Amino acid sequence: MAAFTGAGISVESGIPPFRGDDGIWSKYDPAILELSTYLEKPKTVWPVIRELFFKYFGTAKPNNAHLALASMEQKGLLKGIITQNIDNLHQEAGSTDVAEFHGNSKTFICTHNTSHVVSVGEVDFDRDYPHCPKCNHLTKPSFIFFGEAIPREAFIKSEKHAQECDVMLIVGSTGEVVPASNIPWMAKRNGATIIEVNPQPTTFTYNISDISLKGKAGEVLAQLDALL
Ligand code: NAD
Repeated sequence: MAAFTGAGISVESGIPPFRGDDGIWSKYDPAILELSTYLEKPKTVWPVIRELFFKYFGTAKPNNAHLALASMEQKGLLKGIITQNIDNLHQEAGSTDVAEFHGNSKTFICTHNTSHVVSVGEVDFDRDYPHCPKCNHLTKPSFIFFGEAIPREAFIKSEKHAQECDVMLIVGSTGEVVPASNIPWMAKRNGATIIEVNPQPTTFTYNISDISLKGKAGEVLAQLDALL
């Protein structure tokens, strides 16, 4: 079994998803997360990114859903997680095999010299925009912006899970973000049974899910883990 997780799994940790009535895109223009906008206007974009992401990421803790997946890995039932999230909560819960399809927020990478990778704690968040502590040029969070490629290693690992898993558990994802959403479709084509956990129906529900468990990730996954 492999798991494919989206923003919904971290909602019970206090991190809002992008889509839906309370989602981030109901308040902000998605262009704010274009790489070209960040490079051209970092002073305009940075305060929004800091507010959107780092306000929540600093204090959020793994919830019962993250813990249940880590427990399933420890039992030898879950081979790995493909996550669209950038919040590091799967690793903090104890999961060791995590493919981060959209990168991570715990490090920053310099836009001038990509060998300058620093931890989030080394960046001065109060400056006009994040400066690389090594060379003072613009640095950016290591999660991918619109217009950036999927990290190669994560992509390869995700495809491998999709080809090899007998069950794919989809948790808290609308399935509207491509190319990430192709992964469960690939698993389905390779014969995997698709089990989905979400309080709302999604594109997966209507197209590829064999079983839809309607409910909050923390509650449903804790029950599932207890049964396994
Ligand atoms: P999404 O924002 O498109 O959809 C969230 C989904 O979670 C919805 O289907 C919603 O019904 C469901 N959901 C809400 N509460 C839930 C709960 N308690 N339990 C289970 N499901 C719940 O999410 P997405 O498809 O992952 O796409 C958004 C993209 O934005 C992601 O690819 C990710 O990179 C990024 N993002 C990441 C974070 C994070 O790291 N925590 C947060 C917001 C956005």
